[in-house]
Amino acid sequence: MEKKTFKAESQRLLDLMINSIYTHKEIFLREIISNANDAIDKLHFVSLTDEKARSVMAEEPSINIYTDKDARTIRVVDDGIGMSEQELEDNLGTIAKSGSLQFKQELKDDEKTDIIGQFGVGFYSAFMVSDDVTVITKRYDSDVAYKWNSDGIDGYTIESCEKDKIGTEIIMHLKEDSEDESYSGYLEEYRLKTLIKKYSDYIRHPIIMDVTTSVNTAKDDEEPKWESVTSRETVNSMVPIWQRAKGEVTDEECNSYYKDAFGGYKDPIATIRVSAEGVVSYKAMLFIPGELPYNYYTREYKRGLQLYSNGVLIMDKCEQLLPEYFGFVKGVVDSPDLSLNISREILQHDRQLSVIAKNIEKKVKNELKKLLDNDIEKYSGFWKDFGRHIKYGIASDFGAHKDALSDLLVYASSDSDKLTTLDAYVSRMPESQKYIYYACGENTAKIASLPQLELCAEKGYEILYFTEDVDEFVVQSLVTYKDKQFKSITAEDAQLQSDEEKKETEKKQEDSKDLLEFIKDSLNGKIVKAVISDKLKSSPVCLSTEGPVSIEMEKYFAQMPGEAENKPKSARVLELNPDHPVFEALSSAYECGDKDKTAKYAEILYSQSLLIAGLPIEDTTAYCDLVCSLM
Ligand code: ADP
Repeated sequence: MEKKTFKAESQRLLDLMINSIYTHKEIFLREIISNANDAIDKLHFVSLTDEKARSVMAEEPSINIYTDKDARTIRVVDDGIGMSEQELEDNLGTIAKSGSLQFKQELKDDEKTDIIGQFGVGFYSAFMVSDDVTVITKRYDSDVAYKWNSDGIDGYTIESCEKDKIGTEIIMHLKEDSEDESYSGYLEEYRLKTLIKKYSDYIRHPIIMDVTTSVNTAKDDEEPKWESVTSRETVNSMVPIWQRAKGEVTDEECNSYYKDAFGGYKDPIATIRVSAEGVVSYKAMLFIPGELPYNYYTREYKRGLQLYSNGVLIMDKCEQLLPEYFGFVKGVVDSPDLSLNISREILQHDRQLSVIAKNIEKKVKNELKKLLDNDIEKYSGFWKDFGRHIKYGIASDFGAHKDALSDLLVYASSDSDKLTTLDAYVSRMPESQKYIYYACGENTAKIASLPQLELCAEKGYEILYFTEDVDEFVVQSLVTYKDKQFKSITAEDAQLQSDEEKKETEKKQEDSKDLLEFIKDSLNGKIVKAVISDKLKSSPVCLSTEGPVSIEMEKYFAQMPGEAENKPKSARVLELNPDHPVFEALSSAYECGDKDKTAKYAEILYSQSLLIAGLPIEDTTAYCDLVCSLM
């Protein structure tokens, strides 16, 4: 018989998994049982439309576990859909989920172990405890059975074999016990039972194994006589976790179900239970993940909730149940009202589904709001992972979802290290403050060093720190919050001054009209105007912009593909601090008629304003020469 080798990448992954010091080897059983459960569900699903599947399906499909201490084997037998020869090859010969291996190699060693199970390497976990695994399987529509065998090291064989019933049987030969690990323990009834209770209790199909109990065999008038009796018994409670009453399910159970069913490796930050009766009756169990899925911001990530009808899986990722901006939510919806024969296309337009979806959206929103109000630390963690996604939600579809989502926004600000909501910001605004002020920059430290902040601080105006590209698009969608407009402190018309101060600035502006005009001309198109600043205290200059395109937006568009000429550019304004000694030097050079010197000063000041705004100077050598020529 020909021995086939695992695809190269599978081989490496196998090594990695088997040899990593994985503390939770016991999860192999959960993985194998969960595959068996899925296989039964798949057959059920096919039987809805396939006569053949209906006719071969067991009346009460189950998962049977057998142990053999002498042979050191655990056997897991299911009445599921089975696999063809090709499927055996495809499913168990490769771990071909693209991208996942590469991702694993980028991880640090201590992260690697945690991540197993996220990528459908479930079956291979059998090799954490076994030195030989055999899979015997017969597909529901086939007369032939196949046997797959591997030691998990250098390859596998597939041959045809005999099998009566359809379904799959996994035979795991346990490794020899070592100092650190007793594999024999998995052959003990108590250990197996505990593992099934711990990880697989909610599995909807019966998991049956030998259970030994002490039975009193004495007659009524005799001394009690205890004897061990072994019988085949169902050990899981079979009620799906989302069907059980809230009070009966512990947080640990919810968390472990989440990790098992949705591949999370940290606990979810929130679990939402819904039990709705009315137009549509359904139960739902939803999770807000505690970590960012590795592929979340890629096309590979598919959003959606599992959809069940009466405990039978209809769809694995039902997109219509979740709006795009809540695409991170995982979970199940189970409704007896959905017809099982619904085809997937019809399902897409199902009115009942949209009722459920609306309700779920509200629940998720409320849960997030609750978290934000009660536990800002936890919310900050969530925000770090998924905040960007919610911001996209506000900026997309021409702002159609802004009202639903604006209460979830939080920002760092000049007031404190903690994130603030817009609501809290507005409540702190002094009466003289007209706008909600923000400033953009690469990070909070850079923003905090902007010269404009000084005057804001003096006035008692808090500044929101925008550090993501999407932030400015969000405020363009929002336009206002609680009737307050948003304004960047680097906008030319930020209007930080009182009416009186403004008058004074206008006067100074008028007095220096010619100088400002000269500066504009000498900078030759780099700025749209030079003005007397209304924003500065100790800094000599700053850069602001006129109109809708800010400097941050210009930077954002600059890194997008496309012709440079066609990209939006900001209209830059050079603002000069009239109370700074530098301005005096500039004015006197101009008044003495030294145009050459004035132009040089203007060039230097413009370059400085670029540096302060975090922009590069185009010609650094020319700048250095210029500074040197004046020294
Ligand atoms: P995952 O279950 O995450 O897809 P696994 O490595 O556990 O990854 O299994 C790979 C595939 O092998 C499954 O998707 C399924 O198609 C098939 N498979 C595994 N176990 C069984 C089984 N008991 N019956 C039928 N098919 C199975």
